[in-house]
Amino acid sequence: MLSNSVGGEFVEARLTALDEAVDGLLGDDLTAFSHDDIVEVLQRLETSLRKASAVGHRMTVAAVEGRTAEHLGCRSINDFLIGTLRISAADAAQRVKGARKVGTWHAFGGEDVEPELPATAAAVRAGAIGPDHVAAVAKVMRKVPHGVGFDEIAVAERILADAACSVTPDDLVKLGAHLLAYLNPDGDVPDEKERKRRRGLRIGKQGTDLMTPISGLIDPETRALLEPVLAKLARPGMNNPDDPASPRGDVESESLDRDALAKAAARDTRTAVQRNHDALTVALRQILSSGALGSHRGLPVTAILTMTVTQVEEATGVVTTASGGLVPIRDALRMAEAAHPVLAIFDHHGRPLHLGRARRLASADQRLALIAASGGCTRPGCDAPATLTAVHHITEWRDGGRTDITNEDLACDACHALVHDGPGGWETRVAAADAEYPGRTEWIPPPHIDPEQKPRVNQRHHLGDLLSAALAHYRARREAELREHRRRWLREPARDAGGDSDVP
Ligand SMILES: [Zn+2]
Repeated sequence: MLSNSVGGEFVEARLTALDEAVDGLLGDDLTAFSHDDIVEVLQRLETSLRKASAVGHRMTVAAVEGRTAEHLGCRSINDFLIGTLRISAADAAQRVKGARKVGTWHAFGGEDVEPELPATAAAVRAGAIGPDHVAAVAKVMRKVPHGVGFDEIAVAERILADAACSVTPDDLVKLGAHLLAYLNPDGDVPDEKERKRRRGLRIGKQGTDLMTPISGLIDPETRALLEPVLAKLARPGMNNPDDPASPRGDVESESLDRDALAKAAARDTRTAVQRNHDALTVALRQILSSGALGSHRGLPVTAILTMTVTQVEEATGVVTTASGGLVPIRDALRMAEAAHPVLAIFDHHGRPLHLGRARRLASADQRLALIAASGGCTRPGCDAPATLTAVHHITEWRDGGRTDITNEDLACDACHALVHDGPGGWETRVAAADAEYPGRTEWIPPPHIDPEQKPRVNQRHHLGDLLSAALAHYRARREAELREHRRRWLREPARDAGGDSDVP
């Protein structure tokens, strides 16, 4: 009985009801449930368990603030939880960390202190995300570089918390790694120096088995040049030395036998690293046989770089390559001067401004424009870069879909296979003009993923835009609050809407 504490009788009644409800569910007959009902029970139960984890955070905060562990002679709050709940050390550590990040703590005067991750905390309390999501957000936020402003930190946390509501914790960590690159946008001089210093490729001593170890770090430009080479030459089925019948050379050449490639891909048992290795062999062979080295000219490689006009004007930030790599803007501009990459520049509204390229790529303009606009697979949460996608109709032919760029977008093969009319199938459509992201491809999840079937767009390849838009919104709101505060407390006269000059 919880009779010793103020308000204990209310909590006592709730715990009793909770216990009775769960006992009831344990006894209920669930054997004849339909697929839909199984989904609904699991989802609602999960929501309750997630909310319950927030209650756990509150109790952990209470135990720490009330020094319960010390009172009972435990060495730490973790020890206290391990002993009292018979949980593993890892579980205890995650719960305590969760409480520190999303719990509401109290100042000396007893007033609430905003949680360290406020948006994440709100999502846990709503039951939308669980402890692993919290750990993923915390893991990303821990890596925010020093010197990033308070505004950026707040906005990044909000973006992660929003994303957490529709992706798995694993995907959230990947997305976060990408977001971090945008948080340190200046390609600051010390970083560039540091990168230059650390670059290197070590070719080790040949072993008795005749294999040679290599290790090292390649800079963003080298990666941007390497990725399209691998995307072409390392495709499953291509250039397989174990398979004499596998097609050789370039996956996009006209003479390539598509049917033979599909069959070779099905037979291909190499791992991704083995395919990279074989692709490098082919690339080196081609360089040597092309005579390019003799004439000291650059490699005939096309890297696709996308940037906004603001980035070009300010020469800050990072740009995305079609293969998902990130290149600091100064490196990208230098690469573009050499005229090897395709450079797509967007105006302030995300409309293509300039599509420059070193050599004509026959009938590829539509694909290029899509790569530049969508950046990769459009299914929410998918991080497949543009090089792993194909162009698909958003509205299929049988439903009257037209072949023009407004009805086409990028999807990787795995995601495209999810779009169908059967149970569990996704639907795609072009977002209406009044939608939050007009013109983007919306994916409508099946009910077992989202009972409300709310359309979603993939933010994974648009993190830079998302961050700058959220930041502008955040700053405008804070500025308005500040003005209101001054007006009220400093008795300044209210300003008309146009007068936003600096207040001294
Ligand atoms: Zn995908």
